[in-house]
Amino acid sequence: MQPLISLSQITKNYRDMRALNEIDVTIQPGVTGLLGPNGAGKSTLIKVVLGLIKITSGSGTVLGHRLGQDGRSIRDKIGYMPEDDCYIPGMTGIEVVQFAAALSGLPVIEGLRRAHEILDFCGMKQERYRKIETYSTGMRQKIKFAAAIVHDPEFLIFDEPTSGLDPEERENLLNRIRILADESDKSVLISTHILPDVQSICDHAVIIAAGKVVLNESLDVLNRPSAPTIALRIDSKNEDGFIDQLSADGLSVSRNDDLLWQVTGNDEKMTDKIWNAAKATGTSIHSMQPAKNDLESIFISAVQESNNASS
Ligand code: ADP
Repeated sequence: MQPLISLSQITKNYRDMRALNEIDVTIQPGVTGLLGPNGAGKSTLIKVVLGLIKITSGSGTVLGHRLGQDGRSIRDKIGYMPEDDCYIPGMTGIEVVQFAAALSGLPVIEGLRRAHEILDFCGMKQERYRKIETYSTGMRQKIKFAAAIVHDPEFLIFDEPTSGLDPEERENLLNRIRILADESDKSVLISTHILPDVQSICDHAVIIAAGKVVLNESLDVLNRPSAPTIALRIDSKNEDGFIDQLSADGLSVSRNDDLLWQVTGNDEKMTDKIWNAAKATGTSIHSMQPAKNDLESIFISAVQESNNASS
């Protein structure tokens, strides 16, 4: 399978500021979350991928086109939703999306048809005929989203797509991204600092810190604890006795909070042992399920490791 993005030794300096430092990364088709603290280099990396800025050194391909040579061909195949607002005051929502369609070369009638189709998909009703400066943040995000995908590109790049959205709008937008990936076979790169967004829709996560890729891994692997682990919510009665019993049975216990515990052990009988220990110590178990790794702790430790390495 041809990688979506393949970068080798990419460095980008802004005068004496090194924003990307010899980046090597390959990203396969699918939905990838690009994570990193502020100033890590995420936007710079996106601009490099889009061919909007000149790299200082290195080489790479995007959708099979060479970086630095085929910028136009790359951008034709990409839908980009920037973080900042980018609309012309005085235009209505439908006009903005139709304008984006025209800029990407769609004929007028086809552009208008596509613009309506995409706004329907975004759940935008009669508001599409209102001037965009009267819109709420959620509506403006929908217009930006629609303008990015109106020309039906195969690769979508969203920069902080859920920033400023309320929980329902956020969930709806994430669902739409997942539908585009699942039903229309689009590849997606989402730059964000909101880890639950990545956890909920991404197949893959790339973490960048101080201009370096510090982790590039599938969510399946990241979610899998290194040893079988069960997340347990209990009713506190005789917790010390319960822990002693589990430890005596060779299981290790860590607490997320007072009543939510993680029990780990390489043991097929782990669930039986937990039930038996609960029975013996009079502890009631509210819920018991396979634990997932916490993306936040993976993120923090990946960024910390890179800080330690560079200090
Ligand atoms: P992120 O998107 O992860 O927040 P950026 O790619 O915007 O990070 O920035 C990476 C680094 O490059 C930061 O230190 C930022 O200040 C610097 N930077 C970004 N754009 C410019 C620019 N046009 N001129 C000078 N420095 C820049």
